[in-house]
Amino acid sequence: MEREGFTERRSKGCEDLRIALFALPLCLSASIAGAQVVRVADLNTAQIRALDRTKTVVFLPGGMLEEHGPYLPAFTDGILSERLTDELARAAVAKKPGWTALVFPQMPVGASGSNELGGHFVFPGTYVVRPTTLRAMYMDLAAELGDQGFRWIMVVHVHGAPLHIRALDQAGDFFHDTYGGRMVNLWGLVPVLSGWGNALGAAMTDAEKKEDGVSLHGGMDEHSLMLHLKPELVSPGYKQAAAVTGQTLAESFNAAKAADWPGYLGSPRLATAALGKKTWDSFSAAAVEQMIAVLNGADPSQFQRYADLLEKNPLYQGWITSTTAHDEALDAKEKAWIARKPR
Ligand SMILES: [Zn+2]
Repeated sequence: MEREGFTERRSKGCEDLRIALFALPLCLSASIAGAQVVRVADLNTAQIRALDRTKTVVFLPGGMLEEHGPYLPAFTDGILSERLTDELARAAVAKKPGWTALVFPQMPVGASGSNELGGHFVFPGTYVVRPTTLRAMYMDLAAELGDQGFRWIMVVHVHGAPLHIRALDQAGDFFHDTYGGRMVNLWGLVPVLSGWGNALGAAMTDAEKKEDGVSLHGGMDEHSLMLHLKPELVSPGYKQAAAVTGQTLAESFNAAKAADWPGYLGSPRLATAALGKKTWDSFSAAAVEQMIAVLNGADPSQFQRYADLLEKNPLYQGWITSTTAHDEALDAKEKAWIARKPR
């Protein structure tokens, strides 16, 4: 549905030409000359070459398959990222006259599923790559884009594991240090995350806050967001779901360690589409605000980073240590196989 949004915008103004078979290429070229949202996958070399690098912002929408319990789809974070990319791209061309938003296909790969926080490295619905693999992917793409002269990149990947965020932050720092441009991992910035948390905190009653507890993953918030954005993908069983959570961060980490942990932390039954809309609108507005600030010259290294906060917390340090050990063990397993079977 979100992809249709891109197509719809790009095709605006094409209607008069619809009867002519050659209308689409003409119209696409015309739209690139002005401020538009375009998909890189639709462009040919001449069209990409013609983009004004100083006024083109590239969007790299991420996504991942990560379990979100029995009621939400595994691609929940990807659905949020896709929708946010759509809104950011439209906002960029609306607020920056003459600019082009160049949207890449969504890459459904992320690192470090939230199931890891309780020590579950294998969980139905979670299919991740190692954080080092994720970092290499985004660094490689940063180099491709940098070598082609692009200087503005927004990474849109709504997943919050510490090593996942750090990997994307590092790719952005590499791009900046190597090419002098800006590559910003928006979800890694505290001012963007605050848009989500502040709206949620203001809308919940004290009783709801107590029941939802320290909801680290797939709680009232994500169920509400999905009821707002994709209600057809929320299993109705959420209305009877028991709260699985803690009143402190440590209690929630402990709750996730249970062998029969259902894959979420919080109280899904409290979710409403109205809360989802409030949270989404606030979150999306915060992301747009920070993006525009960067495009207007703000230095993103001055924004507080979420990964820095997480790394200071011993509970998250434990998660980082166990994921790193898992990463190294898998790396050794793969390298040992390659050494035995070089071809
Ligand atoms: Zn999620």
